[in-house]
Amino acid sequence: MEYQRLGKSGLQVSRLSFGSWLTFGKQVGDTTAEDLMKTAYDGGVNFFDNAEAYAGGKSEEVMGEVLKKMGWQRDSYIVSSKVFFGADGGSGSLMPTQKGLNRKHVVEACDQALKRLQMDYLDLYFCHRPDKNTPIEETVWTMHNLIQQGKILYWGTSEWSAQEIMEAHRIAERYNLIGPTMEQPQYNMLVREKVEVEYDQIYKTVGLGTTIWSPLASGVLTGKYNDGFPEDTRLGIEGMEWLKDRTLAEQNLSRVRKVSEFARELEVSMPLLAIAWCLKNDNVSTVILGASKTSQLEENLKAFDILDKLTDESMTKIDEILENKPVFPPF
Ligand code: NDP
Repeated sequence: MEYQRLGKSGLQVSRLSFGSWLTFGKQVGDTTAEDLMKTAYDGGVNFFDNAEAYAGGKSEEVMGEVLKKMGWQRDSYIVSSKVFFGADGGSGSLMPTQKGLNRKHVVEACDQALKRLQMDYLDLYFCHRPDKNTPIEETVWTMHNLIQQGKILYWGTSEWSAQEIMEAHRIAERYNLIGPTMEQPQYNMLVREKVEVEYDQIYKTVGLGTTIWSPLASGVLTGKYNDGFPEDTRLGIEGMEWLKDRTLAEQNLSRVRKVSEFARELEVSMPLLAIAWCLKNDNVSTVILGASKTSQLEENLKAFDILDKLTDESMTKIDEILENKPVFPPF
């Protein structure tokens, strides 16, 4: 495993990490969750990603139980939570104060996450989305105070625009507060704009770190949907029709089919090619893996082994196949 600083912070994060969206407390049982965590930790993963919204809080409970049972030293791993969506599991039963990035919810959600995870502090705390109904200033002050209280160590954003991230930094600088360290954007062969173009300046200026999500586009980039719809997969879960429609668009499938042919030429598996491709981007601090089966995670953790196949020539070839390399504005 390789470790890298999370942006300009001194925190060393494993370049492959592990998250529990749609799996813990939902798609997989507690024994599988335990196997997955153990496989990740034994493979050198030191960052476990979670959120208040995952399985309505159940995902944090499951992860907390596993961490307690494993008894790994608390200073050997990093755990996150995220705040914004609330913890109702999508039932629509939330009161207005139970979501968003206002001081009340951010503070209460932090306490609730700590309780579910059975921990004294979160290493990383993310604003899961921007909140148009709360001044960014209120959120920056709240995150700073949580750090001062020792409840969180670093805070960051997820799917914020570069402008919103910079607004948070402007406020932090004005009042001498601790600004956001990292952003959690989607990044994979099919979704590239934010990571490759929009944030380009702020990697250098504020030293933004990134913990990227869905490196396999929810499994589509494994190639397993290339010739039909396999059973027992995420996109077949009841209630996930929105995700299925979005990720299985014909344009995506056609790209994945073509890249799969190139993977065969390189003699590498499609999941490994897609994950290693994310690792090739130096602005990616860590690639958060997801898995519903231990065998998947065991395979995905081998992504480093095929990095040498991704020469400049192969990367150019992949760009040509994908035909979606974002363009910088001309100057
Ligand atoms: P991926 O895009 O890698 O999708 C993971 C899923 O793909 C697995 O659960 C599994 O689903 C399938 N899969 C994985 N490996 C293989 C393999 N080798 N062969 C076949 N199928 C495979 O990542 P996620 O979408 O899970 O995202 C990773 C993490 O990022 C999340 O757990 C979460 O922590 C974070 N995240 C953050 C978001 C945010 O808004 N900040 C949004 C989404 C995720 P199956 O077997 O069911 O098909």
